[in-house]
Amino acid sequence: MSSGQSARARGLAGCHSCLLVMSIDTEHCPRCHARVHSRTPNSLQRTVALIVVACILYLPANLLPITNTVYLGSYAPSTIIGGVITLWQMGSYPIALVILIASVLVPVGKLVVLSYLCWAASRPQLANPRQCARLYRLTEFIGRWSMIDVFVVAILVALIKLGNIISFYPGFAALSFAAVVIITMIAAEQFDPRLIWDNLESNDHD
Ligand SMILES: [Zn+2]
Repeated sequence: MSSGQSARARGLAGCHSCLLVMSIDTEHCPRCHARVHSRTPNSLQRTVALIVVACILYLPANLLPITNTVYLGSYAPSTIIGGVITLWQMGSYPIALVILIASVLVPVGKLVVLSYLCWAASRPQLANPRQCARLYRLTEFIGRWSMIDVFVVAILVALIKLGNIISFYPGFAALSFAAVVIITMIAAEQFDPRLIWDNLESNDHD
């Protein structure tokens, strides 16, 4: 597989803010004064650290109640999975599926793919760069749907707030889940996809 030459191999770097191309030795972009670096500094370390934090926060997001329902004075906390099971038993299959996809498949899938990309970027001999690039585009695509679960909870709270008989409050898991989503987005942002292609270049030289 031939890769062509990267900007770095030609002694060039692009500004992250305004995309101006300049010499790799330039410290600050002459057009927008942003700091210029050929690759995001400590990209892999930062991404891995954020993935670990997101994984830790994912535990309370699933184990603690995401909603607290107060019905005629009795208190019923519900976790994400508990909510999915209840909705499924009530016959609300589409909503149960949307919540399952948004709260389990999307965040876990994104964390798994990002972890794999970090592993692949640090092991040039083993990874297939084109496959990694496809996976990176997939994380970008599914990332757009990351916040859907927080919206679903917000909509449920609005729908079920029927007054004094039954009340519906978001639980601590809602906060943890929002933190997982935001931290995963920052982790994906910190991952520099150009590292994938650096592998291809170093393989070509071998
Ligand atoms: Zn610039």
